[in-house]
Amino acid sequence: MWSADEVAGLCYTHYSTKLPKQGKPDPNREWTLLAAVVKVESAPEREACLNVGNLQVTKEVVAMGTGTKCIGHTRMRKTGDILNDSHAEVIAKRSFQRYLVHQLWLAASHQQGSIFSPGTEIGKWKLKPHITFIFFCSHTPCGDASIIPMTKPEDQPCELVSRKDPTRHSADCSGNHDPVGPENKRKTEETASDYVTKRMKTVISDSTCEVTERIAAQYVPGNQQNIQDTNTSRSEFITDGQREILTCAKETGLIGAKVMDVYRTGAKCVLGERDDARRPGVEYHHVGLLRVKPGRGDRTCSMSCSDKLARWNVLGCQGALLMHFLQHPVYFSAVVVGKCPYSQEVMRRAVIERCQHISFLPDGFHVQEVKMLQSNLQFKHSRHAIQTGHANGKAKLVPCGAAISWSAVPEQPLDVTSNGFKQGTTKKGIGSHQTSERNQPETLAHGSRTRNLLDL
Ligand SMILES: [Zn+2]
Repeated sequence: MWSADEVAGLCYTHYSTKLPKQGKPDPNREWTLLAAVVKVESAPEREACLNVGNLQVTKEVVAMGTGTKCIGHTRMRKTGDILNDSHAEVIAKRSFQRYLVHQLWLAASHQQGSIFSPGTEIGKWKLKPHITFIFFCSHTPCGDASIIPMTKPEDQPCELVSRKDPTRHSADCSGNHDPVGPENKRKTEETASDYVTKRMKTVISDSTCEVTERIAAQYVPGNQQNIQDTNTSRSEFITDGQREILTCAKETGLIGAKVMDVYRTGAKCVLGERDDARRPGVEYHHVGLLRVKPGRGDRTCSMSCSDKLARWNVLGCQGALLMHFLQHPVYFSAVVVGKCPYSQEVMRRAVIERCQHISFLPDGFHVQEVKMLQSNLQFKHSRHAIQTGHANGKAKLVPCGAAISWSAVPEQPLDVTSNGFKQGTTKKGIGSHQTSERNQPETLAHGSRTRNLLDL
């Protein structure tokens, strides 16, 4: 019906042809992240029967977002007239909600072509049965899904810690806005495709457990537990953090592979959670924890994109406001990630498995078995693509400060924001009635359609 490359290709084309230059990165020095929602519509059964062997499926980008920034908690405003979270995934989800509001308005005002049909309860609507939505992002979401085991030391985005100087690593990597150290990020992305290929080629039956060997060599006194390694029938002293990564590696078939380290995320554990161990190598992070997005020095209050995707996979992505009009939540049927460091198993852990214990959900809500796929196509304005486009590959690159929101709606489909405000907002304008009105996240996300819908 569709392939990951097809979905990625569709989104990249849409980005190139439908989005304006305003808000896109300057490819000489900037990069950005892209996310989108693709509607997949198969022909209703009756038509499909007439076209046996030629099942009609249409795919269409209905929402898109770009962006890399998230404001720190000191910049949040009580008036609510600033966008806190402008990561591409969140911008795309907001744009998608705007699309849903418009579609609901079409249905409620008895117009043709809506994705919704009347539900069985009065005043509620349901998605037509042959329509599904795929979520696309050009990169692995920040947070838990980005803590990916590495199989080779040369894949390490931050310099490996010398055993004699275990503090050096944290110095190299701490305080970065981005998931990995800036100097080493290029290296990470350069090796991204290699990483996946190398993993596929790893012989799992290798009886030498290099994970355990390396951990033994990095043994840090304290907090250790004696566990039996089932693969090697050897006992080793390991710490809690090491145990987690080992468990993860076992579950993902990486035991026996050369798991030397993990990719790192700049997303910090939420207050009250246990914190990362920040020890060298595989035990730098604890996995499966809730995290807040990285910010420059100033802690943010926005959850990582991994956590938000996990939430949408249980509660739907329509939000509480739209749920008043819907019989069932709207879920994504698949998540497709572009070419970048990626692990299917880690994505599964971050988005599905962390929520599988949730029970007592209201009727119609379930933890979804969302499909996870990776495309082999790279986003042209990703950090890696921009970096490799430079002759010496060493140009100083920065994340693009602007965020673009696009939605398949007839009125004002585009919004470009910067620092949480509409691009072009002056300092004087911030807080003015006009700015507040047009910059309300609710207005940016839903426009006047929400108000129309409430009037119906
Ligand atoms: Zn993110």
